[in-house]
Amino acid sequence: MKSDPRSYRLFQRAREVIPGGVNSPVRAGKAVAQDPLFIEKGDGCRIYDVEGSEYIDYVCSWGPLILGHRHPEVIKAVQDVLARGVSFGAPVDLEVELAEMIVEAVDAVEMVRMVNSGTEATMSAVRASRAYTGRDLIVKFDGCYHGHADHLLVAAGSGVATLNIPGSPGVPDAVVAHTLSLPYNDIGAFESLMKEKGDQIAAVIVEPVAGNMGMVAPEPGFLEALRRETEKCGAVLIFDEVMCGFRVAWGGAQRLYGVNADLTCFGKIVGGGMPVGAYGGKKEIMEQIAPQGPVYQAGTLSGNPLAMAAGIATLKQLQKPGFYQALEENSARLAEGLGRIAQRMGVEVTLNRVGSMMGMFFTPGPVRNFEEAKTSDTDRFAAYYRAMLEKGIYLAPSQFEAVFLSAAHETADIDTTLAAAEAVMAGL
Ligand code: PMP
Repeated sequence: MKSDPRSYRLFQRAREVIPGGVNSPVRAGKAVAQDPLFIEKGDGCRIYDVEGSEYIDYVCSWGPLILGHRHPEVIKAVQDVLARGVSFGAPVDLEVELAEMIVEAVDAVEMVRMVNSGTEATMSAVRASRAYTGRDLIVKFDGCYHGHADHLLVAAGSGVATLNIPGSPGVPDAVVAHTLSLPYNDIGAFESLMKEKGDQIAAVIVEPVAGNMGMVAPEPGFLEALRRETEKCGAVLIFDEVMCGFRVAWGGAQRLYGVNADLTCFGKIVGGGMPVGAYGGKKEIMEQIAPQGPVYQAGTLSGNPLAMAAGIATLKQLQKPGFYQALEENSARLAEGLGRIAQRMGVEVTLNRVGSMMGMFFTPGPVRNFEEAKTSDTDRFAAYYRAMLEKGIYLAPSQFEAVFLSAAHETADIDTTLAAAEAVMAGL
């Protein structure tokens, strides 16, 4: 285990007063037997721990930092707002601006409501869907994580997968009785469920690019099947693009795959690193939300100006010509390089990638769903993780999280990472 005396002392203090010493489970590093590093600052694609050690960061705050740390335009936008105040709990122009940007960028979104986290976004989208259809059942897919609302903690990926928590204690059976979970990418299983129960289903929620069981791409025809069957049955199709929205493409996964959802959830990138979520979609569904309609959903700090400013400044950078192309080229360089090295070293891996989201599984593969993701040798991943950390490469401390690139990762940083991976794999 990498030792860092200051992080160690902070973690001991933290464990006395914060459950597990962290405010979100995977950060604790249990799955890789590595205590967390406490981070002092970030700059571009690098982060620095409290001892001053430097790392190339592939967590990017779990996805939001597509521009890297401390992008000057984002920092400036936040500072400008900060000079005027932190929060007013009254409408500000920035909320309108960000909503307009999202509506313009995502074809299927006509109206959008800002919230404070991805969890709130998916929870609210499900509520809106149930109200709209007058039905209770929701369908999700194994290994997809949609935040920690009770009714969505069924066969969830991310920390639930990492920690082997089956659902969660504290969630009443009656609440999850209305949630059905199916294997990801299994069109046949989905079609037969819809045939049997389609008229009772309020919503089908999916990560159109799954990033919470490692990284799993939708197989050709999967998203199309979800669209076709939900339309047939009058169920709402919810794309949870909290992670992949504005990451895999401008306009999100639905632009990339040409399949539109009825409701879309956002988070991460649209908040530029601030606590933000958003859900939006068809007017006839969104018009039910209070105060326009009867479906209640609110938030003291929702749409707060600091977060809106960071989100707007981030999206403006993504709109620049060539932004996604450059990110794609660097992401391909990393993934292809890792694949070549693993092959040369005789380490069996499966590399999945969509744009700047990727996952490397220690299994011959393929990895198309949660069952296949779980065939990965997690002990081997843990050894790889710790050795990479020793070499200054900061990965998410779980096999079941995605790797993210930012625009601040340059060719030289990727080559440094590949050199580290080569040395590490030689010793695996
Ligand atoms: N949906 C997806 C696809 C996510 O990846 C996450 C978080 N990683 C969430 C929802 C929940 O978002 P938050 O952690 O902001 O509540």
